[in-house]
Amino acid sequence: MSDRLFLLTNDDGHRAAGLRALADILKQFGRVVIVAPQTEQSACSHAITLHRPLRMKESAPDCYAVDGTTSDCVLLASQRLLGGRKPDMVFSGINHGPNLGDDVTYSGTVAGAFEGRLFGVRSMAVSSGDMARFEDGNCMEMLSGIIERALSEDWEDDVLLNVNLPPSSVELKGVKLTCLGRRHYAESVIEKTDPRGETYYWIGGVNAEWFGEQNSDFRAVEKGYISVTPLHLDLTHYPSLGKFSSLETVVKD
Ligand code: MN
Repeated sequence: MSDRLFLLTNDDGHRAAGLRALADILKQFGRVVIVAPQTEQSACSHAITLHRPLRMKESAPDCYAVDGTTSDCVLLASQRLLGGRKPDMVFSGINHGPNLGDDVTYSGTVAGAFEGRLFGVRSMAVSSGDMARFEDGNCMEMLSGIIERALSEDWEDDVLLNVNLPPSSVELKGVKLTCLGRRHYAESVIEKTDPRGETYYWIGGVNAEWFGEQNSDFRAVEKGYISVTPLHLDLTHYPSLGKFSSLETVVKD
């Protein structure tokens, strides 16, 4: 058994089926410590808890539940739990539901991997179109192959991998390297009236539309491929540095 150490989290709660499925794969490659939110925190993005104390409880050997977000989990694990040892890799997933294109900015799953990267640890987020994929031996084997190859790759410091498994309604075809697709959310807010006559809103209508490059992540999973998108943390738009130079003023140098 290798002495590799993996930190595993996600935002669906520490008993989630997807978390177990990824833990089962990772156990072939090393020791897995699970630190995950006690309850579901989906769409928590990169939030951390600053205004109340956090509790971390061991629910089984190498399995901890935190009453916070995925980023809280990675923070607590890296700074307190692992005794100063950096995990060889941080994993977040397998999320119950996809995290594609523009949606990655809302994702607690991807944020878990971002938080790992902020600690200088190579990280991977894994999400699935549906939960039936966790029972699909071929798909789990393909994912295991991706992880095995990623472990031996030399990555740039700033990069994490966002992996999405295709829904089980399409035949599994292979693995594609992709870029992030784009999404229109124009029709996704539903307006209704509550029993007291007050208006309320519900976000999450189904009319969102995808668009983007031919090698976009959403196209790959639609066709039955596992999508792998390398992401990076630097959000600077470098071409605009020149374009907005008129905004610069130097009062005193
Ligand atoms: Mn989730």
